[in-house]
Amino acid sequence: MEPKDTTPNEDYKGFTNATCPFYPCHSGVKREFNCLFCYCPLIAYECPGQYKVFTSKNGVVRKDCTDCSLPHDGYRQSWNFIQKWVERPVIWSGKAQTRPLAPRPEAANPEPDASLPS
Ligand code: SF4
Repeated sequence: MEPKDTTPNEDYKGFTNATCPFYPCHSGVKREFNCLFCYCPLIAYECPGQYKVFTSKNGVVRKDCTDCSLPHDGYRQSWNFIQKWVERPVIWSGKAQTRPLAPRPEAANPEPDASLPS
């Protein structure tokens, strides 16, 4: 059987729902606004995003991702960003973001991570 990842069609990497009542839900997006990762797959994992930490009314420590545009900035760029970080997921420690971030090991299909903050 032919591997599914040989298609040159990249339409699966993102879309924009411009009629969503919350669109645009994050500021700072410079490329196509990718809605595919509306619920970020990295919410429970360590990530390089600009999140803040808060405690919910149920006492659960959570990320506030309001200021993060990484899963939304460009179809291809955000797709590659997410693939890279879910390849070897590390459960989030519940701690605040630290800077500078440790470099992430290269993914199998690397592409310059232009979406990452410098
Ligand atoms: S900070 Fe950004 S990358 Fe991290 S979980 Fe939130 S939306 Fe995803």
